[in-house]
Amino acid sequence: MLTVQGIISNPHYHTYGAMRVIAVLTVLLVASASPMVVAQQPDIVQEHWYHSYATLTIDVNAWADDPETSEIVNLLVVGQTELGRNLWMLQISDWSAETKPDGSAKEIVYIDGGHHGNEHLGTELAFLTAEYYIEGWAAEDQEVIDVLRTTELHILIMLNADGNDFDTRWNVNQVDLNRNYDHYWNTCPTTQPGSSAFSESETEANANYMNTVVPDADLYVTMHTGVWIMLYPWGKWPEQPSDWELFHFIRDDVHANISDIPIQNANQGLYPNCGTSRDYGYGVMGFPTFTFETDDEQWALGTVEPLSSRLGEEMDVMRYLITNVWYWRARLSVNSFVVEDSTIAIDVDNLGRASTSNATVRYIDDGDVQWTSETFGVNATNNTQVSLDTSNLTMSDTGHFELYYQKRVIDASLWVNESIPEDVVEISDAKSTGFLPFASPILSILAIGLAGIRKNEDFE
Ligand SMILES: [Zn+2]
Repeated sequence: MLTVQGIISNPHYHTYGAMRVIAVLTVLLVASASPMVVAQQPDIVQEHWYHSYATLTIDVNAWADDPETSEIVNLLVVGQTELGRNLWMLQISDWSAETKPDGSAKEIVYIDGGHHGNEHLGTELAFLTAEYYIEGWAAEDQEVIDVLRTTELHILIMLNADGNDFDTRWNVNQVDLNRNYDHYWNTCPTTQPGSSAFSESETEANANYMNTVVPDADLYVTMHTGVWIMLYPWGKWPEQPSDWELFHFIRDDVHANISDIPIQNANQGLYPNCGTSRDYGYGVMGFPTFTFETDDEQWALGTVEPLSSRLGEEMDVMRYLITNVWYWRARLSVNSFVVEDSTIAIDVDNLGRASTSNATVRYIDDGDVQWTSETFGVNATNNTQVSLDTSNLTMSDTGHFELYYQKRVIDASLWVNESIPEDVVEISDAKSTGFLPFASPILSILAIGLAGIRKNEDFE
């Protein structure tokens, strides 16, 4: 731990009154003797001091052990730093249910902090996000209960624990971890990106977790400190990303209702940056990704203002992004689906805030795709009516239709297949004449002959 004198004379920290520091330290000594609600560092320490690797280790283990919070916290070690420190991963959800109440899969949110060891306030924002949901659960906060019932939060608070303890940007090999990812690695004028993509154990472990545990996340936020800003892709190029509608919607909604924090693409007005976790998260994993940068100009160790109020506005933005994660992808919903002689007429809504551009209807039978329509797109929060040619479609009495589409426009985004509810599927009069109750005997006979290729479960 730094001494008071060490902090005051350290040029890294901004000038503030020594008396205030001493006042807070006095409070620390008094407070540490009092009982705690949740068994971890006393809040007075957490609220006025940055985490070291040691204090973070105490806190995450306390959450995992405390009977009030252990039921919602899985604590994992998902790798080691180059110096062998653990990469602690918190998995936070209401684990009493594997799915949402309606049986569908829970939403997945991925958050990391501490790529740069000297950007402590950003690391604290990752800590506060975990704390908000973990301790909110213990306090029976209804917003938190609702989120954890439907959502899994995966939070790696401190990626560069070695650099954090040395108060340096780099890891122990003097590599900038946020230039070490395998997305256009080392293709920008950049310093210290490492000897190759994922040459460092920290970035390799982080990408491994993304690929193996949370590949279907619909939000990834990576936390830093610098200029107060939120950056969406790309860092590599000045052009807007394919999913600009999603990012612009979030920007406008945050500005209208929550915060004036600038939100823009990472390259614009800054400088090209390559091999970042943000560009990897979007360009390779297909996640909607933000770099969330806190401003370190207004807070320093030992100041009177608690961290949670200093970062209160940032937490409001995080709560918004997490509460609304359901919307951060395309969500196709079929209003009507009419099978006619040579076409399918489909009317589909997109309930999400992301567009999708390569959707198809597929006919599935015997577990295989028997037919695929031409592609169509549905813009974010829009409606599309299309007529799909079915000349090569052969239906049977056991098959069904499904939608097959990408969650977002970016090539890397996940494909989903969703069955089209049977109650919206209709066979048109032209196709179904023979099945009408008052059809003539001749038409009925004809219909029996055609039933093998036209029969639909709905129709029986
Ligand atoms: Zn940074």
